[in-house]
Amino acid sequence: MAEKLPPVLNCIVNDCEFWGEGNMCHATSIWVGGDHPTCDTYERAEHHEYQADQASVRQCDVDICRFNESAVCHAPGINISWHSGHADCVTFEQG
Ligand code: SF4
Ligand code: SF4
Repeated sequence: MAEKLPPVLNCIVNDCEFWGEGNMCHATSIWVGGDHPTCDTYERAEHHEYQADQASVRQCDVDICRFNESAVCHAPGINISWHSGHADCVTFEQG
């Protein structure tokens, strides 16, 4: 059986299209990217869109994170926060 993808437990980036009350992410799933643990699904918007109760991490390309294995995040869940005007995974740990 496929392993459950880790949920986005908390996101405080409240100008994102998928942000909702209680610091929930309501995207179906998110992508975390590249050289830096940025939430690539972040989209600045005037309105909020509801796609799902709670987003999960579909893919993460931050291969220097200790939770990353072949672009899959194995953390029990992740938190997203502001970093220099964009959204970052703050569960990231180098290792
Ligand atoms: S910044 Fe990322 S985790 Fe936060 S609400 Fe937007 S898509 Fe979801
Ligand atoms: S905890 Fe690590 S592997 Fe998981 S989404 Fe964040 S940066 Fe990627």
